[in-house]
Amino acid sequence: MIPPEQRMLPAVKPLSRDFWTGGEKGELRIHRCRACGHFFHPPGPICVRCQSFDVAAEPVSGRATVATFTVNHQQWLPGFPPPYVVALVELEEEPGVRLPTNIVGCEPDQVEIGMRVEVFFEQWEDVWLPLFRPVAQ
Ligand code: ZN
Repeated sequence: MIPPEQRMLPAVKPLSRDFWTGGEKGELRIHRCRACGHFFHPPGPICVRCQSFDVAAEPVSGRATVATFTVNHQQWLPGFPPPYVVALVELEEEPGVRLPTNIVGCEPDQVEIGMRVEVFFEQWEDVWLPLFRPVAQ
């Protein structure tokens, strides 16, 4: 367990509030355009595909695949012992929408590009960090 003062937390802003707090209800919430249906991340006020302002956060499945990753071996923070995996995962609902995250629940040398993963949340203060772990076989 990392003491909260050693965990860098994101600033929760109006546009990102759904993303950072959806985990309270077990939901990974991603911005989606109501005009064209496109999911996009990070959250913003306008659709990145069709420029509609009719956008809002929606829950997604939380299933994704590892698009790329690196294994960190450097001790950057006192409560964050290496090695750990920093990854971009691609959402099942929208190929091309990638979230930066950590892959946990397996050894770092077991992580592979294309590996299927699922979200879970770790609460720190008013933030529910979306982390990913391998899908149970
Ligand atoms: Zn759109």
